[in-house]
Amino acid sequence: SSDDEGGEEYLFKIVIIGDSAVGKSNLLSRYARNEFNAHSKATIGVEFQTQSMEIEGKDVKAQIWDTAGQERFRAVTSAYYRGAVGALLVYDISRRSTFDSVGRWLDELNTHSDTTVARMLVGNKCDLENIRAVSVEEGKALAETEGLFFMETSALDSTNVKTAFEMVIRDIYTNVS
Ligand code: GDP
Ligand code: MG
Repeated sequence: SSDDEGGEEYLFKIVIIGDSAVGKSNLLSRYARNEFNAHSKATIGVEFQTQSMEIEGKDVKAQIWDTAGQERFRAVTSAYYRGAVGALLVYDISRRSTFDSVGRWLDELNTHSDTTVARMLVGNKCDLENIRAVSVEEGKALAETEGLFFMETSALDSTNVKTAFEMVIRDIYTNVS
């Protein structure tokens, strides 16, 4: 934090990781701009979006990083993780393989982080209940085992999107303030 004419400002870097097409880019666009794109291609150009919230009268900014689709090639670089104090690990509740990948993403996150990282496991696309392939209980159990927060979200219908990001931001704030 830094003093700014009496007020304090915080800036936290948060990364979104997980397999391709689980909805990472749409979770971010839903949170930062209230937008959803049914035909989103791999993110081009945009590295991060900054979103502000107020906690205890303080201006808290989250700089949230999205991959540029490089996760398809298992080539997310260490620069992506550098300085991150929060992470959303996303899988798609309708695709089992994306849940099976969570352990690998956790390993990668741990390898690249040298500080405490507030981590949340996110089961996205909970609107697809009719083709669900991972139960809520399985998500919860994995999160408990790994010491992660857990939430199911839908970037499509907005369920829990704001709550998930803000829970991570609040946890980081609690750790540093
Ligand atoms: P990314 O590769 O992880 O960034 O995933 P995208 O955000 O590009 O989304 C991949 C596909 O899943 C796109 O066709 C999205 O429209 C779709 N999608 C993303 N989030 C949701 C969601 O919550 N529900 C549903 N039904 N589809 C979603
Ligand atoms: Mg993307």
